[in-house]
Amino acid sequence: MEKKSLLKKYLEFNVLYKILIGLVIGAVAGIILASSGVTALPAWISMFGTIFTRLLKMIIIPMILGSLVVGASSVSPANVGKVGIRVVIIYLITSAFGVIIGLLMGNIFQPHAELAAVTELAADAAGKTAETNVWEVISNIIPTSVLKSLVDETVLQVIFFALLFGLCLSFMKVSDDERIRRISNTSFEVFDCLTEIMLKIVAGIMQYAPIGVAVLICEVFAKNGAKVAGALLTVTIACFLGYAIHIVFVYGGLLKIYKIKIGTFFKEARLPFITAFVTRSSNGTLPTTMAAAENLGVDKEVYGFSLPLGATINMDGTAIYQGVCTFFLVMSVFGRALTMGEMGMIVLLATLASIGTAGVPGAGAIMLAMVMQGINLPIEAGTVLAGAYAMILGIDAILDMGRTALNVTGDLTCTCCIAKKLGFIREDSALK
Ligand code: ASP
Repeated sequence: MEKKSLLKKYLEFNVLYKILIGLVIGAVAGIILASSGVTALPAWISMFGTIFTRLLKMIIIPMILGSLVVGASSVSPANVGKVGIRVVIIYLITSAFGVIIGLLMGNIFQPHAELAAVTELAADAAGKTAETNVWEVISNIIPTSVLKSLVDETVLQVIFFALLFGLCLSFMKVSDDERIRRISNTSFEVFDCLTEIMLKIVAGIMQYAPIGVAVLICEVFAKNGAKVAGALLTVTIACFLGYAIHIVFVYGGLLKIYKIKIGTFFKEARLPFITAFVTRSSNGTLPTTMAAAENLGVDKEVYGFSLPLGATINMDGTAIYQGVCTFFLVMSVFGRALTMGEMGMIVLLATLASIGTAGVPGAGAIMLAMVMQGINLPIEAGTVLAGAYAMILGIDAILDMGRTALNVTGDLTCTCCIAKKLGFIREDSALK
C-alpha cells in the first residue's frame, strides 16, 4: 500500500524537477566516482541508462512518420507554400549564423591540443568516420526503398517520404471526389492515431527519464572527469559561449523583430530546453516542444509541420559546434588557424551537415567528419587528425547537451516567429 502511494507521489511530481534532480544526482555521483578512480559503472547500473536511450530511439521513426504526415497534411494546400518555404529559409539562415558564431568562437579561443599523447586513440576514431560527401547527402535524401529507409532508420529519407505523403494527403482531403475525400480522411486518422499513441508512450518514457538521465550523466562525468580538462575545456567553453551568444543575439533578435515578448517565450521554451539538454535528442524532445508551441498559442497547422521538420533539419547548436570543432581539429593538427576560404566552405558544409544531422544523440559528431572531408582534410585511420577527432568524441556527450538544447529552442523560436508573421496564432495566444 505504502509503495503504491510513493509511486503515485513520484508520478505527480513535476517531470521537469525530477529530471533536474536526476541530472544533479548523476553529476555529483560521477564526479565522486572519477575522483576515486572508478571510470566505468557496473553493467547492471549502466543498463538503466541504456534502457532510456533505447526507449527514445524506439519511438523516433514512428514519431517522425506519424507527426510529419499529420503535420504536412494538416496544412491546407493554400498554405503549404506560404508556410513551408518561409520555415525552411529561416531554418537555413539561423543555422548559417550558427556556423559563423562557431567559427568566431574558434578564432577567439583558438582551442588546440598537444597531440602526441592522443595518437593511440586514432584507430578508435577512424571506425566512427562517416564515408559521405555533401552531394551524396543531398541525393541520398530520396529513398530508393521506403521500407528499407524505415528499417534502417534513415531519418532524412523517412522525412522526405512522410512530407510527400502528407502533402498529397492534404490535397486529397479537399478533393472534389467524395471517395478520395473519404479514404484520405481515414488515412489521416490512422496517422493521427499513430502520433497520439507515440505521445502517450513518450509521456511514460519521461516518467522514467530521471533514472535514465542520472545514470547517463554519471557515466559521462565518471569517464571524462579528469580528461575534460585543458584543451577540451576550452572547446567546451567556446561551444557553450557560442550557444549563449546565439540565443541572446539570433533568437533574442528574431523575437524582438517579430515583437514576441522574450519572457513569455522562454517561460514555455524552458521545458523543451531542459528536456533537450538531458536527452540530447531533438526528436525525443519533440512532444515537449509541441506542447510548448501549443501553450504559446501557435496553430497546430504550423507547428505540426515546422517542429518535426525542425527537429531534423534545423540544428543551430550543431552548426556552432561544427564551427568550433573544425577550428580545434585544424589548429591541433596543423598548428594554424583556418583560412578564409576554408571558413567559407565550412559555413556551407556545416549548414548542409546540420540539415543532414538526425535529431538523435551524437549525430553531429558523425557530421563533423563529413565537414572535415569537405574541406579536404579527411579523417583517416592512424592519422593525428583522427586522434584529435577522437578527443572530441570523448566529450561529445557534454557538447551534445548544449547543442541539442539550442537546436530545439531554435525550432520553437522560428516556428513562433513565422506563425506570428503569417497570423497562424490563436485568439488567446501569448504571442500577440
Ligand atoms: N543530438 C543533436 C539533436 O538531437 C544532434 C547532434 O548530435 O548534433 O539535435
